[in-house]
Amino acid sequence: MEQYDAIIIGGGHNGLLAGAYLAKAGAKVIILERRWETGGAIMTDEQSGCKINTHACYMMMMDKAPAFDDLQLSEFGCSYFSPQPSIAFLTKDEKALCLYNDPDKTAKSIARFSTNDAAKFKQIYNEYSELVEECIVPQTYRSTIAPLDMVYLLTEKEIGKKLLELSEKTPIEIIDECGFESDTLKAALLYLTSMWGINPNVTGVGFLVPLYIVRMLNSSLIRGGSHRLPSAIYKTFIANKGVVEDTLEVEKIIIENGKAVGVKTIKGREFRAKCIISTVDPQQTFLRFVGEDELNVISPDFPATIKGWQWEELSHYVLHLVMDRSPEYKAAKFDPEVANSFIQVMGIDGFQDLADKFKQAVSGKLPLWGHMTSFTQFDRVQKPSVLARFLPEEEAPVRSLP
Ligand SMILES: Cc1cc2nc3c(=O)[nH]c(=O)nc-3n(C[C@H](O)[C@H](O)[C@H](O)COP(=O)(O)OP(=O)(O)OC[C@H]3O[C@@H](n4cnc5c(N)ncnc54)[C@H](O)[C@@H]3O)c2cc1C
Repeated sequence: MEQYDAIIIGGGHNGLLAGAYLAKAGAKVIILERRWETGGAIMTDEQSGCKINTHACYMMMMDKAPAFDDLQLSEFGCSYFSPQPSIAFLTKDEKALCLYNDPDKTAKSIARFSTNDAAKFKQIYNEYSELVEECIVPQTYRSTIAPLDMVYLLTEKEIGKKLLELSEKTPIEIIDECGFESDTLKAALLYLTSMWGINPNVTGVGFLVPLYIVRMLNSSLIRGGSHRLPSAIYKTFIANKGVVEDTLEVEKIIIENGKAVGVKTIKGREFRAKCIISTVDPQQTFLRFVGEDELNVISPDFPATIKGWQWEELSHYVLHLVMDRSPEYKAAKFDPEVANSFIQVMGIDGFQDLADKFKQAVSGKLPLWGHMTSFTQFDRVQKPSVLARFLPEEEAPVRSLP
């Protein structure tokens, strides 16, 4: 029987982070990972010689996450940068609205659609930035507290009350009430809010509007591919004597006298620890690993609560393309910066059209709208190695790193 202070189920970035902090504090920790390597959904796969960030690629909080400095991730090979403009919103009449991490530059682009909106955007961006810096970021990186306690905390300050007021509204209402004249600007802001799957028609998530608008305009790319982020956390974990066992699937959490004391893998290996941390979803963690019988003993209401867990109404659809040249945009005649932008949004004909398209997506239709990013335009390391091998350097041009 192998004995640890903590066992972590799942070696995605959250499992790795929990492990790295605990190991740094001197605990004896093991991470058990089902796949052949750690990193979870923050991965870069090489398929047919092409590097593909299969899931996560837009990093909204790199410059805010305390872990970056706490765990010295830059010393372990992780770095990031923010291509600018952050977003180019392309319109059907071949124009483009470019949004940057610099509100003055964004205002200049907005002024080509509405001069009134340019000034108003700066004011709203400043208000949203304050909400994000003063309320949302600090709440993100503190220990969890009960929702009612959180509401109580927020009502203590004016800025907290503002955030609560926003939360009561739908993203559509919030953006509508800003009073912008330009339908293109309204659609671009709604896109920033809903591109993560937040339904723009629901209440209770309004606090995400300032977060997504401000942080998406400051989002970054991990140099060398998304996997370099979990890989750096893995290295700090190992440097602090953490243990990782991969290709090892956990089947059961061992409960003795109503207490989690260890785990058992599908091949029958057992590990024991004072503390078991699961980063796998609640249904698997409680219904599969612990089991209904044990849960009933702890609390008879608990299994029903977990069964009532609601998944998102829709999924993202991602298409990875390997192309022999950079894409060309008709809107680049209107604003050449379109070609340099991190994300190009296309196929949306205004604010109402986006709201309608979101409803279609929820009902299972796949309309032709969305956004794209050309990773190799910004990062030569992500260039397909298969092309790098066969083409002379000048035939596979890549922009040098900023
Ligand atoms: C398509 C897609 C796009 C995304 N895009 C972005 C983005 O651009 N930016 C962003 O910030 N976020 C994005 N995300 C979200 C981000 O990927 C997740 O928030 C993040 O990966 C969660 O990390 P985690 O460690 O909690 O879980 P995961 O990354 O899911 O890790 C859980 C780990 O547990 C392991 N595991 C599962 N079952 C067992 C078991 N029985 N025994 C042992 N191990 C097990 C899994 O193999 C996995 O490695 C995206 C997600 C998806 C799916």
